[in-house]
Amino acid sequence: MPVGTAGTVKAMTADAVRATGSSIVLGNTYHLMLRPGAGRIARLGGLHCFMDWPGPILTDSGGFQVMSLAKLRKLDADGVTFQSHLDGTTHRLTPARSIEIQHQLDATITMVLDECTPFPATPDDARTSMQLSMRWAQQSREAFRQRDGYGLFGIAQGSVYPELRKQSAQELLRIGFDGYAVGGLAIGEGQATTFAVLDATVPHLPAEAPRYLMGVGTPDDIIGSVRRGIDLFDCVIPTRAGRTARAYTSRGVFNLRNARFADDAAPLDDACACPACTRHSRAYLRHLFMAEEMLGPMLLTWHNVQYYQDLMQGLRTAIADHRLDAFAGAVRAKWTSEEPS
Ligand SMILES: [Zn+2]
Repeated sequence: MPVGTAGTVKAMTADAVRATGSSIVLGNTYHLMLRPGAGRIARLGGLHCFMDWPGPILTDSGGFQVMSLAKLRKLDADGVTFQSHLDGTTHRLTPARSIEIQHQLDATITMVLDECTPFPATPDDARTSMQLSMRWAQQSREAFRQRDGYGLFGIAQGSVYPELRKQSAQELLRIGFDGYAVGGLAIGEGQATTFAVLDATVPHLPAEAPRYLMGVGTPDDIIGSVRRGIDLFDCVIPTRAGRTARAYTSRGVFNLRNARFADDAAPLDDACACPACTRHSRAYLRHLFMAEEMLGPMLLTWHNVQYYQDLMQGLRTAIADHRLDAFAGAVRAKWTSEEPS
């Protein structure tokens, strides 16, 4: 899912996002409730209409960004009170309020409010935090109005502790959701730990429901997570990297500001069919960034989202053909760049 934080996948038109093969995008409740406001978006026909995205939209609960962006936040047993990072106004999110806001946005997939347990956390702190998230998951379930074509996802927590992750998954299954997310990862624990937590969590989540790893990740993270049973991802990496001259390609990661591309007439990625690769040279893309032209971030964001979607399509096809391991090995073997993937 490309990330459309504030009702837009940054630097891309909705048509461009569709052209990459993206079928679902993510919107951020925290940003949208503060600006332009969920009530206003509802009056203007909902987020699909507002941002010209008739397809599915998943919204997060707002909780993660309250803890990472808002000022003077205060967590209690019933929710979190915080000040907007934009204008200092005071707001409150509870499980029921988060569900209501996501309903106003007309989210296709609504996420429960949870606490993203900080990393690192002691076992006792991780248990207390996970149990709070499970109470909020129950309250979110009760507040959600089930309608055809809409769904509610639960989020497993439990930090790096396998027994807590298992308990969290079992509690979510008891409550019952349309899909199951693994939260509290990609917050500094490192890839080996992420994978270990997936090994301890995913087997306890139903294979027939979508399994969603929140906030992950690099192409290598995605391949390793798909091999562990994850279906759905969101991450700002392709779009954020696209605005800072970092290109994800079939040959690995390249920084287009590097002087070695100044006279390079080759396409950025000859395996890619996006406009940046079919219509322009590496030298031109580099020039756009050096001259601080806005077309540079636009073209490279398109390319990076295209690369990610092509990777996901390749993984889906490989799974259907029962050759996932061979496909994953072949993709990784082509990464030759000096930068981490
Ligand atoms: Zn491309």
